[in-house]
Amino acid sequence: MSARLSTVALSLLLAACAATPPTFTYSPLPQQPEAASGYQDKPGWATRRYAVAAANPLATDAGRQVLAAGGSALDAAIAVQMVLGLVEPQSSGIGGGAFLLYYDGKQVSAWDGRETAPAAADETLFLGADGKPMTFNDAVVGGRSVGVPGVVAMLEQAHREQGKLPWRELFQPAIRLAEQGFAISPRLHTLLKSDAFLKQDPVAAAYFYQPDGQPYPVGHLLRNQPYADVLRQIAARGSKALLQGAVAEAIVAKVQGHASNPGKLTLADLAAYRPQKRDALCSDYRAVSRDYRLCGFPPPSSGAIAVGQILGILNHTPAADLPLQQGADGKALPSPQWLHLYTEASRLAFADRAKYVGDPDFVQPPGGSWHTMLAPGYLAARAKLIGDNSMKTAQPGQPGTMSLALGIAAPQPEYGTSHISIVDADGHALSMTTTIEAQFGARQMVNPSGKGAGGFLLNNELTDFNFAPNDAAGLPTANRVQPGKRPRSSMSPTLVFDKASGQLLISGGSPGGALIIHYTAKTLYGMLNWGMNAQQAINLPNFGATGAPTLLEEKRFPADTVQWLQAHGHEVRETDMTSGLQAIGRTAGGFFGGADPRREGVVMGE
Ligand code: GLU
Repeated sequence: MSARLSTVALSLLLAACAATPPTFTYSPLPQQPEAASGYQDKPGWATRRYAVAAANPLATDAGRQVLAAGGSALDAAIAVQMVLGLVEPQSSGIGGGAFLLYYDGKQVSAWDGRETAPAAADETLFLGADGKPMTFNDAVVGGRSVGVPGVVAMLEQAHREQGKLPWRELFQPAIRLAEQGFAISPRLHTLLKSDAFLKQDPVAAAYFYQPDGQPYPVGHLLRNQPYADVLRQIAARGSKALLQGAVAEAIVAKVQGHASNPGKLTLADLAAYRPQKRDALCSDYRAVSRDYRLCGFPPPSSGAIAVGQILGILNHTPAADLPLQQGADGKALPSPQWLHLYTEASRLAFADRAKYVGDPDFVQPPGGSWHTMLAPGYLAARAKLIGDNSMKTAQPGQPGTMSLALGIAAPQPEYGTSHISIVDADGHALSMTTTIEAQFGARQMVNPSGKGAGGFLLNNELTDFNFAPNDAAGLPTANRVQPGKRPRSSMSPTLVFDKASGQLLISGGSPGGALIIHYTAKTLYGMLNWGMNAQQAINLPNFGATGAPTLLEEKRFPADTVQWLQAHGHEVRETDMTSGLQAIGRTAGGFFGGADPRREGVVMGE
């Protein structure tokens, strides 16, 4: 064979290889999802080469199989997300949005798939006829609260850069489970039973509830052919199949056609959606004489700023000198003195959050950069405001040199959401928090074909905007509703690196509304300062403060902790604090992952 011919033969061979993309065969996990009512101890999971942590065993398993087939962490996340939308529909799905942090071995990217407000929305969106803010549920249920869903378009954009397996393959697990059916988990059943609004939507009622109005029981096999049909179209044509054409028309009809609470979303809003690639917000953090780089999501999330501020402020207090206590069950827990410092640091961070954080396409960062809010000198000055007794309420500070004429937003409830952490065999890592906002979102299920029971749920993300556009002094708030804007979030997907070597050490995050910030900060503090593995840190009792009351997870703290805090001016509230943490930490031999005992998550890998 001549040299020229052999070159041709070689290039034909290479072309043939390139034309045969790697495939992935999925087989559903045989066992049922575990029980999740209450608190269920979990062992934590050690893996050597790769690991995936997600909120439901079927979703985790889909991700594990993608990694085993040679997929990247990003490939695995797509499979996990599509299964979560089926088996954990209360928390996230293709009708919602997400923030995704990705470490590709060199740098960290931050993909923003946050929902956007329709072009016709304005700052009166959540004001009633009397000009006063609507109640939360009046705003949520219906079409009014629905933003343009961003998660599919965002994953598609990220996949173009970080995908190894073909896009269409990654939908196989969810399509198969949707068609074969999955067993309703205890947590899904409990939430279906407790939700007053979902069954008011006829499409959701026909899918989740029996004719007598009771939800299908735990273990009931639920099939969702309409969801499988939509996924097939997305698998074949990408996010266009969701945001344009028949599926988009069905979304708009559902939103605009709601009888009592219609929304303003249009086909043009859906078609105009663009995910954003942002710079991750990374800051230095020192714990037990070691330097770390904490990378989190920048605005429109408030997560990385608040977590970084709390941890940074604590480093200017004696917190690190306060040892852990032993609880009645023999397990470690923070002392009241430490909780005092932590919750005071939190009040300061949440005061800044209420004033400064909003969609960066609409709101200037103080001093021209979000980093001013994490500057060590600024945090040291903020720490000086912490005294022996609780300050109860904090005022925002002035990071940077420029003062901004922004109002201070009132706190609002936030719920729902799911967190995914993955490290792949190449050492690339992903941390993605994904949401439809409240449990079951806007309680609106879309079934584009109208054939069979099922479909997908729409988000109520727009209620993450401030309902009142101005504060009491009449100043506009950073997070008021504006057309095309992304609502402020608390989602805190985080990647932690060793500062000196640049080695990835942790991927973690949680659902939980504004308390996401505390759940994430607690887990990082436990791992970095108290030498805990991911599971031990996740297991720690939850605590925090977003305003005056000091919140403690119910039945997890001894009476003398509560008494000490009360004696130091804290208004203590013991309450459910249902985090859904997932975290994976590097160990000498590989990775150790943990999943929250308060929900149904597990970690798998090899
Ligand atoms: N929608 C909330 C946010 O983006 C999260 C809701 C939740 O986790 O409960 O911050």
